[in-house]
Amino acid sequence: MTALRIQVFTDFYDPHLLQMTTRLIIFSLFLCAFGANAPRVANSKPNTTSLQTKTIERLVHLDSPIAGVSRYAYVPFDVPQRAVRIHISYQYDRAHGANTIDIGLFDARSSGSDMDRRGFRGWSGGSRSEFFVSPREATPGYLAGEMPAGTWRIILGLYRVASPGVDVSFKISITTDDNGTGSIVSRGPKTAFSAIVNPSNARPGSSSIAPRQGLRWWSGDLHMHTIYSDGDWTIEGLRNSARSLGLDFICVTDHNTSSHHLEIDRLSKDSPKPLLLRGEEITTYGGHANAWGLPSGTWIDFRVSPKDNTGITNIAAEVHRSGALISINHPFALCGGCAWSYDAAARGFDAIEVWNGEWDGTDEQALKMWDKILQSGRHITAIGSSDSHRAANPIGHPTAHVAARFESQSALLDAIRKGRVYLTSEVARPVLRFEAETMGKRPARWMVGDEFHLSTPATIRFHVSAQTAPPGSTISLVSNGQVLRSLSTTTNGRQQIIEVECRSDSYYRLEVRDGAKAMLALTNPIYVKIEKSATD
Ligand SMILES: [Zn+2]
Ligand SMILES: [Zn+2]
Repeated sequence: MTALRIQVFTDFYDPHLLQMTTRLIIFSLFLCAFGANAPRVANSKPNTTSLQTKTIERLVHLDSPIAGVSRYAYVPFDVPQRAVRIHISYQYDRAHGANTIDIGLFDARSSGSDMDRRGFRGWSGGSRSEFFVSPREATPGYLAGEMPAGTWRIILGLYRVASPGVDVSFKISITTDDNGTGSIVSRGPKTAFSAIVNPSNARPGSSSIAPRQGLRWWSGDLHMHTIYSDGDWTIEGLRNSARSLGLDFICVTDHNTSSHHLEIDRLSKDSPKPLLLRGEEITTYGGHANAWGLPSGTWIDFRVSPKDNTGITNIAAEVHRSGALISINHPFALCGGCAWSYDAAARGFDAIEVWNGEWDGTDEQALKMWDKILQSGRHITAIGSSDSHRAANPIGHPTAHVAARFESQSALLDAIRKGRVYLTSEVARPVLRFEAETMGKRPARWMVGDEFHLSTPATIRFHVSAQTAPPGSTISLVSNGQVLRSLSTTTNGRQQIIEVECRSDSYYRLEVRDGAKAMLALTNPIYVKIEKSATD
């Protein structure tokens, strides 16, 4: 290969990138000799001579990110007419983990601004070193579809960059078809069912399953990853696992992409059970959030800077406009950029993940954060989920149990919004009971997620039990940030009663912990309001 030095840039000046605050220096631009002067066919087969592949090589220097400025950089390249495949690979010195550069792609519809969501073609974060897009197929995480001519842009996410900065080299191979047939055999990283770019096809979520009488509990897991981002699961593998565990629904929340939606749609047509929800883990460098129940093909833009409360509020509003719910994920997780740097009051959010995988100290912190929000008078739903990436970290640990009339996306989302949710460490245990009973002229029973009004302070009777909890476990009734009462779980899971005098607006929730204080089960609250006229 003969490298031909074309040009040297310092401080990249593309006017579209004026808002890009990360300093991006392109050292040099090389064209491979076979790309510049002697285009070759992509496949050596004689009947594919209309295919020509040009390879561009680039070297980009990235400085370490500065607080308050964008963590995204864009590397533009030109795509000619009749492109049928773009393959990109990149390399850099990882410096034993000190450098991690995420990657994604925007097509010619994008202007290269963090504010411009047009032309999104996929994201693989730091989990792939190469990927491709073509009209009919793409690497999982990326979107197949039309290949508009013009300036495309690689997006780089500066997850970690050591202080001397890092050089990143790219190989961009663009195959064109002079016959314009658009057909090509794709080669490259493992392919899967591609998502086709066609935003106009976006439509509301899956339809209802046949209705049933009464409210019942549905078990599921709302946070997991597949080969469409950084997981090892296929979506079919997740569905099979959910089925064998007896889960009624799962939500696939791959990082920063919608490319898994078409596969979910295809599998859902095959069989409606378990219910598969389309999600996205909106993965910023200042915390993660899950969108649940997105319409097919809806991608939520993740480009918001840490601590940018306005930016995250806009994301939450966008998720709601699509009809989906949004949750704060693992707000105290220890991985870089995983902890929540935005509004601790979670305004505009429907839920907070207080339990992520195995119960640990970061979940205790999340539980405290949730309790603080509840004490402020806001209702927000606590969720627990596996965040599974592979079978070694199984789904359903913990499980979210949701009370809804129907096993449909809209019924489940509505129930989650209302807080009709409790969480257990395993799919089927412990089996919880938690109800509030008010006495008087018109006795009534209330369940998790209910808010009921008392005209005057009164005694509330709570019916609690935790069947199949191991010996040594305790059930605690928590109200307004305090443990009101703790009981040993009886060996046969017999129902127990706790009576509480409720004198002011309160919420009551249940925790079941084992002898080592690890969480076994957790409910959302039952809320009580004392009417002012009676207390004045
Ligand atoms: Zn996460
Ligand atoms: Zn996750």
